[in-house]
Amino acid sequence: MRILLTEDDTSMGEATRRALRSQGWAVDWIEQGEALVPAARHEQYDLIVLDVGLSGIDGFEALRRLRALQISVPVLMLTARDSVEDRVRGLETGADDYLVKPFAMPELIARVRALSRRALAHASNELKLGSLRMDLGAKRAFIGDAPLQLSAREWGVLAYLLSQAGKVVSKEQILSALVGWDEGPSSNAIEVYVSRLRAKIGEAGVTIRSIRGFGYLVEDESGNA
Ligand code: CA
Repeated sequence: MRILLTEDDTSMGEATRRALRSQGWAVDWIEQGEALVPAARHEQYDLIVLDVGLSGIDGFEALRRLRALQISVPVLMLTARDSVEDRVRGLETGADDYLVKPFAMPELIARVRALSRRALAHASNELKLGSLRMDLGAKRAFIGDAPLQLSAREWGVLAYLLSQAGKVVSKEQILSALVGWDEGPSSNAIEVYVSRLRAKIGEAGVTIRSIRGFGYLVEDESGNA
């Protein structure tokens, strides 16, 4: 899961990012409300954690701009006051849930988990191509009916490639889907994962083509995505 954190307080932001990353989630952290829409248009986030009290435009305004563009990613708002007005305003602006500061990190994690589960239940829970199938909810992959064993990194790479089937994706895009902006494996590691995946999915009628100078393209044997 890839999360965008919007928080202008440095120590709060660091603590929140650490807590979210401890769950294996990729976290990008921005500090200004103005940066929310550009970031959300640039990357596909699964969830946004949005502080209400930001310098510049506040969290409500940032959220209003996001929803005005029909960007429907789930948003968990962090409010400093437990006021009914704030809560109503947040929900009316298009927040999916809210958490009152100060909160305990385990509670934040539980809210994020619950919210992403809810969002997943609405979205398709499966990626399919050829006879390859990834059940994202159960975290299980199959070729036909046969289970396919994947490491966590292989899972992440393959899920991203399948989600972008028919499009050329760069190693950098794969990397950024796996982890946050400032950590993680090298692009050489991506080549290793891709070659392992090719060996594992050879029977599935799915090809990961190398596009020299650009990256990879996933398609089935008839060239469909
Ligand atoms: Ca703040």
